[in-house]
Amino acid sequence: MTNAALGFIGLGIMGQGMARNLLKHGHPITVWNRTPAKADALVAEGARWAESPAAVAAGSDIIFTCVSDTPDVEAVLVGEHGVIHGARPGSLVVDMSTISPAATRAIGAKLAERGVAMLDAPVSGGSEGAARGTLSIMVGGAAEHVERARPYFEAMGKTITHVGSPGDGQMVKLVNQILVVGNALAMSEALEFARAGGLDLQKTLAAVSGGAAGSWMLSNRGPQILADDWRPGFTIDLQQKDVRLCLREGDALGVPLLATSLVFNLYRVLQADGLGHEGNHALIKALRKLGDGKG
Ligand code: NAP
Repeated sequence: MTNAALGFIGLGIMGQGMARNLLKHGHPITVWNRTPAKADALVAEGARWAESPAAVAAGSDIIFTCVSDTPDVEAVLVGEHGVIHGARPGSLVVDMSTISPAATRAIGAKLAERGVAMLDAPVSGGSEGAARGTLSIMVGGAAEHVERARPYFEAMGKTITHVGSPGDGQMVKLVNQILVVGNALAMSEALEFARAGGLDLQKTLAAVSGGAAGSWMLSNRGPQILADDWRPGFTIDLQQKDVRLCLREGDALGVPLLATSLVFNLYRVLQADGLGHEGNHALIKALRKLGDGKG
């Protein structure tokens, strides 16, 4: 079904780009965002506005969500004016937020009681990946639903991996986040070391980015650090939400998450300093505080 009516709920940094790519691929799309003004550009480009998540669902075969945290997904899917109150039996919900795997399974069970299927399909690739349609999408749920959603995933992402059962997409995303914060910490230490050593930081970055130490984090956020550009592709507050999910699951599984818990505490310092709205690459400011006392 490649001409399904699509709904998209949550037009933040990620959702804007993702919804726009669905629209660009010619898919009819109905949108809702808690702050309506964020939908203006998409509506001008051809999206239809609906007054609530339930109203989005009433007109859609497949409903995508990309909101902040677990309670927010619960609100838009099973809350008072949530998708569950408008969705038709046979429709499919695809949650692309990063939230708790257990809560994902519980929401999926509630939707299933109304004959509505669900996939968890969190993403990686940052605001750049959302805008360019190059996201990595990690999908949990039944294969038949993954196939139904695949043409739309292909409009938003490049690497689409069906990783397992409901909730497994979220678990793989947490694996991804353990890697992301480890990379952010390594990048921060390395760039502070280079700065203290009096190196030319542009040349240092150019020299190491293409070698074995290269990473998405270094290539995309390293230049932002050098430019003192702390605008978020991903805010510290949301990064911290993901790290908290990693630590909770790690604790339940009995897995030591050493670097991850260190980063959690470093981000806490930055949040206490009122920097939670800055990009996650501002982690380096916590190291600067530890080093020369200047954040
Ligand atoms: P964002 O720019 O802060 O956008 C958050 C979106 O969620 C906004 O549309 C916001 O609405 C909506 N929202 C939050 N709470 C809500 C509620 N209770 N009810 C209704 N809507 C609510 O965040 P983002 O960076 O796009 O992240 C969205 C999700 O993608 C998060 O789960 C994040 O972890 C994940 N993610 C982000 C990145 C990244 O690099 N940014 C990468 C991968 C995954 P308002 O506009 O009204 O505030």
